[in-house]
Amino acid sequence: MKKIPVSILGATGSVGQKFIQLLENHPYFYITSLAASDRSAGKKYGEVVNWILPTPIPDNLSEMIIDKCEPNLNCKIVFSGLDSSVAGEIEENFAKNNYLVISNSKIHRFDSDVPLLIPEVNADHIELLSTQKFGGGGIITNPNCSTIGLAIALKPLFDNFEIEAVNVVTLQALSGAGYPGVSSLDIIDNVIPYISGEEEKIELEPKKIFGKLKNGRIEFAEIKISAQCNRVAVIDGHLESVQIKFRTKPEIGDIISAWENFSSSPQKLNLPSAPIKPIHYFYDERFPQPRLHRNLDKGMAVSIGRLRECSIFDYKFSILSHNTIRGAAGGAILCAELLVAKEYIR
Ligand code: NAP
Repeated sequence: MKKIPVSILGATGSVGQKFIQLLENHPYFYITSLAASDRSAGKKYGEVVNWILPTPIPDNLSEMIIDKCEPNLNCKIVFSGLDSSVAGEIEENFAKNNYLVISNSKIHRFDSDVPLLIPEVNADHIELLSTQKFGGGGIITNPNCSTIGLAIALKPLFDNFEIEAVNVVTLQALSGAGYPGVSSLDIIDNVIPYISGEEEKIELEPKKIFGKLKNGRIEFAEIKISAQCNRVAVIDGHLESVQIKFRTKPEIGDIISAWENFSSSPQKLNLPSAPIKPIHYFYDERFPQPRLHRNLDKGMAVSIGRLRECSIFDYKFSILSHNTIRGAAGGAILCAELLVAKEYIR
């Protein structure tokens, strides 16, 4: 297959860098431009970026001159790792000019014609693209990084049983706050029990993700979620402690089978970034752990463990997912691969 040119908006940020790392030698895509703020535009990428990843900047990109985020880039797809304060207008401007934007920012997630996409969970929602007002362009959004891990864990349960309520307490990694993020003096020897806007996103986004596509609109799912979010001194990988109540309580073995047998469109289509198994269930009670399991299956799998009875809800368990791979750049690249496989991009 002839490779498809792509650009990265917000290429100097932490999500932008992850895009660059994951797109190196990608079988479908190659990077033609890197764009960032006016502060960085016009300068060589390697001279401006504060590169924080352990692999080197790809040689061909280090010398690349950074563009402004203006819709004159030589590509069809733009991956956006833009700061939310500026993403709205810039992404819309690209869509209006025939680019397909795959965004990590929160700004367009609840536009009624924009898919909030997790390819393993709601691949059918890409049909919303045809209802958008942008002509040849469009916008697709990636959910919040904690929502993605939670929604993938809930998907086989949502399909096989009736979920009544979910309570989730997150322990979220520092990289989720971007770079430089939280000050070291705030987080060493500490846990911060507040992440601005995060609880609202986790409580609301699954209602759209699990919603039904009907007559070009999403009917939101009735799923009650309560979330409490904490920032912890882990570099990558969000851990989530979940309690769940069903309308009719299933057997523990049936829940584990639903997770272990779960496979979806990206696996059937054999998409390059798809994890072989979207969910790994661990029987060892000490697992999952961020340092040990965040990179499982290219950082795209969700790890689950400690399923047990709950004295208030029906069951409780732990989830782990990589926030900048599955929860951001890797998830967005998987969305683009799905669009190629479904022939939305030729
Ligand atoms: P970040 O490290 O702060 O990077 C922000 C990027 O936006 C930089 O490239 C910056 O370019 C660019 N930018 C800022 N102001 C701009 C302007 N006026 N015009 C054009 N570009 C501008 O943030 P991040 O952590 O990568 O997050 C990026 C987005 O992804 C956010 O919307 C965030 O909520 C979302 N997200 C992050 C994660 C995560 O785990 N980090 C997960 C999911 C979603 P300069 O360097 O030139 O200033």
